[in-house]
Amino acid sequence: MQRPIKKSSKLAHVCYDIRGPVLDRARQMEEDGQRVIKLNIGNPASFGFEAPDEILQDVIRNLSAASGYCDSKGLFAARKAIMHYTQQKHIANVQMDDIYIGNGVSELIMLATQALLENNDEVLVPAPDYPLWTAAVSLAGGVARHYVCDEQSGWLPDPEDIRSKIGSNTRAIVVINPNNPTGALYPDALLLDIIEIARQHDLIIFADEIYDKILYDQATHTSIASLADDVLFVTFNGLSKNYRAAGFRSGWAVVSGNKSQAQDYITGLNMLASMRLCANVPAQFGIQTALGGYQSIHDLTMPTGRLKRQRDLAWQLLTDIPGVTCFKPQTALYLFPRLNPAVYPIEDDEQFVLDLLLEEKVLVVQGTGFNWSQPDHFRVVFLPNSDDLTEAIGRIARFLDRYRAR
Ligand code: PLP
Repeated sequence: MQRPIKKSSKLAHVCYDIRGPVLDRARQMEEDGQRVIKLNIGNPASFGFEAPDEILQDVIRNLSAASGYCDSKGLFAARKAIMHYTQQKHIANVQMDDIYIGNGVSELIMLATQALLENNDEVLVPAPDYPLWTAAVSLAGGVARHYVCDEQSGWLPDPEDIRSKIGSNTRAIVVINPNNPTGALYPDALLLDIIEIARQHDLIIFADEIYDKILYDQATHTSIASLADDVLFVTFNGLSKNYRAAGFRSGWAVVSGNKSQAQDYITGLNMLASMRLCANVPAQFGIQTALGGYQSIHDLTMPTGRLKRQRDLAWQLLTDIPGVTCFKPQTALYLFPRLNPAVYPIEDDEQFVLDLLLEEKVLVVQGTGFNWSQPDHFRVVFLPNSDDLTEAIGRIARFLDRYRAR
C-alpha cells in the first residue's frame, strides 16, 4: 500500500473558517442550481461596488509596461503615493525603504509574522479577530494569545486584559482598527494605552487599518502609528476595501517608529519580500490614482450613501428579531450580532450556520470562525443590495422563529 500524503504538522492549528466547509456546501448547492444569498465575504466588487473607473483606466493604460518583475518592495510611484498617504495620516519619518507592496495585506501579514516569530513566541491578537491573523501566527510557529474585545463597551478591548495576557515570549500585539468583524473604531486614549503596553514590554504593534476610510456617522480614524515614534509599528492597508479592488490583490505595509531597534527584523522582512520577487505589477499601477484621486468611498458612506443605508437597514432588521442584539458598527462592512443564549441555546455554531444554509439558503459565518470563544455570534456582510438584505434577514428571522419554538 502506498504511504498516504499528509499535510504538514505546521497546519495543525491553522484555521480559516470564512472560506471553510460551510462555504464548500454553499458552492455545492449553487452547482445544483439553488440560489444562495451570500452574506459571508467582504468582497465589495461582487455586490456592484465597483472599483473607481479612474483606477481601472490607469491599470489598463499601463498594462503594456507591467509584464516584468519590479523592485521587491514595489513600484517607485506607488510607494511614493503610499508615503504621501502616511504623511496625511501623520505617521512620521516614513522613507521609501520602509514601504512594502504585497499581493494584498494577506501576503504581508504572512511576511510580517514569518519574519518575526520563533516557535512558541506569542502574539496578542484580538478576539474576535480577522482570523488570518491567528492563522498566520500559528503557521509561523507562534501562538496567538487572544485579548477580549468587550461587546458591552462597544467591542473595545480592556488594556488590563491585554496586559494580563503578556508573558516572557510575547513579541507583538495586533490591533485591527477599524475592526473586522465588530465594526468598532478605537478612540485615541485606548490607542495610547496600547502603545504604553507595547513600550513597556518591547512589543511590535501590527496595525491592520484596511478599513480606515469606510467610516459612518462622521467618525474619524487615527492611525496608531501616528501617536508615538519610540515603538515599532507595521501598518497595513490596501486597495481591497477602501477602493473596492480586492481582486487586484494589492496592499502595503509601512514600517515606522523605532526602526533603529529593529534592523535585524527589517533585514528579515527584506529577505522574505525578495524571495517572492515582487507583488502583482499591473495592480500597482492603480495605487497612485487610488490614493491621489477622487475618494468615492465617501459617497458610499455619507448619510445618503448606499453602504450607510445598507448598514442601517441590516442593523434594524437584525435587532428587530427577538433575542438578537447588535452593536451598530461605526466602520467597515460587517455586523456581528449576538444570539441571546437563553433564547438560542446553540452548542455548535458551525452546525447552526450550516442548518441556516440548508434550510433557508442564506450563508453567514459563525462567530467562532473569528476566534470568538462562545457559540453565540455570527457575522453578516451588509454588501448585498437592500432587497437581498431584506430577503436574507427575513429568512434568518424565520429560521430563528423555528429555533425558538423547538
Ligand atoms: N485585514 C482585514 C481586517 C480584513 O478584513 C481583510 C479582508 O477581509 C484583510 C486584511 C485582507 O486584505 P487583502 O485583500 O488586502 O489581502
